[in-house]
Amino acid sequence: MPPTLDTPEALTRASAADLAAALADGTVTSVDLTRAHLDRIESTGSAVHAYLAVDAEGALATAADVDRAREAGEKLPALAGVPIAVKDVACTKGLVTTAGSRILEGWVPPYDAGVVERLREARMPILGKTNMDEFAMGSSTEHSAYGDTHNPWDLDRSPGGSGGGSAAALAAFSAPLAVGSDTGGSIRQPAAFTGTVGCKPTYGGVSRHGVIALASSLDQIGPCGRSVLDTALLHEVLAGHDPRDSTSIDAPVPPVVEAARRADVSGMTIGVVRDLLGEGLSDGVRARFTESLDHLREAGADIVEVDCPSFAHAVAAYYLILPAEASSNLARYDAMRYGVRVDAGSTERTMAASRAAGFGAEVKRRIILGTYALSSGYYDAWYGQAQKVRTLIARDFEAAFTRADVLVSPTAPTTAFRLGSTHDDPLAMYLADITTIPANLAGLPGLSLPNGLADEDGLPSGFQVYAPAMADDRLYAVGAALEARLRHAWGGGLLDRIPDLPHGGDSAATTSHTQIPCTEATR
Ligand code: GLN
Repeated sequence: MPPTLDTPEALTRASAADLAAALADGTVTSVDLTRAHLDRIESTGSAVHAYLAVDAEGALATAADVDRAREAGEKLPALAGVPIAVKDVACTKGLVTTAGSRILEGWVPPYDAGVVERLREARMPILGKTNMDEFAMGSSTEHSAYGDTHNPWDLDRSPGGSGGGSAAALAAFSAPLAVGSDTGGSIRQPAAFTGTVGCKPTYGGVSRHGVIALASSLDQIGPCGRSVLDTALLHEVLAGHDPRDSTSIDAPVPPVVEAARRADVSGMTIGVVRDLLGEGLSDGVRARFTESLDHLREAGADIVEVDCPSFAHAVAAYYLILPAEASSNLARYDAMRYGVRVDAGSTERTMAASRAAGFGAEVKRRIILGTYALSSGYYDAWYGQAQKVRTLIARDFEAAFTRADVLVSPTAPTTAFRLGSTHDDPLAMYLADITTIPANLAGLPGLSLPNGLADEDGLPSGFQVYAPAMADDRLYAVGAALEARLRHAWGGGLLDRIPDLPHGGDSAATTSHTQIPCTEATR
């Protein structure tokens, strides 16, 4: 039975699939739906701070347009009229885009990213841009230049990162769907920390055109939602070939929606990656993970154990390859054509002063690391060696996939950490990426779904599924099968148990239904 969607609360809590159905049969208008979300952004903004900019005017214009088209009997795309939030890493024409960095403060792109074009073709109102660690470097969203995002489960905790804004927007019911980016786990780890779903598609499966680059051989855009089916519906909108991205794959999009609807794992072999169950895993995360394996076994899957010995070196290799690529990508911020500019006399001094003022500490740290790793005399020892490890990791996956159809692990070793707890120890933050990084190094798809609350702190943990390249549909088959069983066991979704957020006050997100620049949004 579809839910009754007659209050703003019901509209913001409903799944995207139910909203799409209600829009299609005319029981809900996109304007009402979009307005309900804009109000929710306003009332939760000061507590959560998921958004850096809100485009109420643009979102309502798209919504009104969809409602008119629907009334005129036009045939519309599946998610037409369903609003969405976009991580501030993707360029949005006419709407400020900063990648969480001071160096791009107030920058308004003259064009849309490929994925944003797809959202516009799908006629989805874009609510605004979500907070992130600066240039997507981080696991907590504390490295944003515009303030922390708070985890709606516990406002003293991080929602994860770098895409903490998109994940927090979903958990705070201020967007039914969101776009994220994942270079080493930035979609999946925030999903795990907030009790939501996120997928990093196969590398090349979704266009990177117009996405602000961090590490081009690892970056991938992907869908975030509150259910596996919702995430699949968005995946289908985002994915597909784009000739403007030279690494884009020209092949049919895997049948993700069909797989999510069938939710069938019978006869499937699921490999548990033993190497990702070691040291550092919290007891609560481990316990929930083990229970979920039992659920999958009951659903008809065969569970085996696999070894991927090179994964032990994944973090070390990643933190050489990523800074190396980032140091090169970020060289473009030279204050000459756009971005923050601090005039200091000569061109060279102006560049140095602008970069010193515009970049935050974590970005500077990685530029220094990357420049060192690529420097003459050290290139082979650091960068070259890391590339060899990358090959070994891809081979481990290949070998494991001869024994299993998908691989599984916890998404992150722990639940959400306290804001401020990793400030003095960047290495501790890097080490926690062990579970998500292998997929990026090998270019493979991965999905995280809510896996219940850990006993030690009552916070969400995540279950991760890995699949071979272009077999993204398998992620959704396993994810949906497990989700159905967990929901049955819990008597509802995990987010039904999230505590109520404090309301109102002097909202930090938006005070009117007009577009606001990020500086206003974060004051
Ligand atoms: N936490 C990882 C990092 O700091 C992942 C970042 C990402 O996926 N963008 O690099």
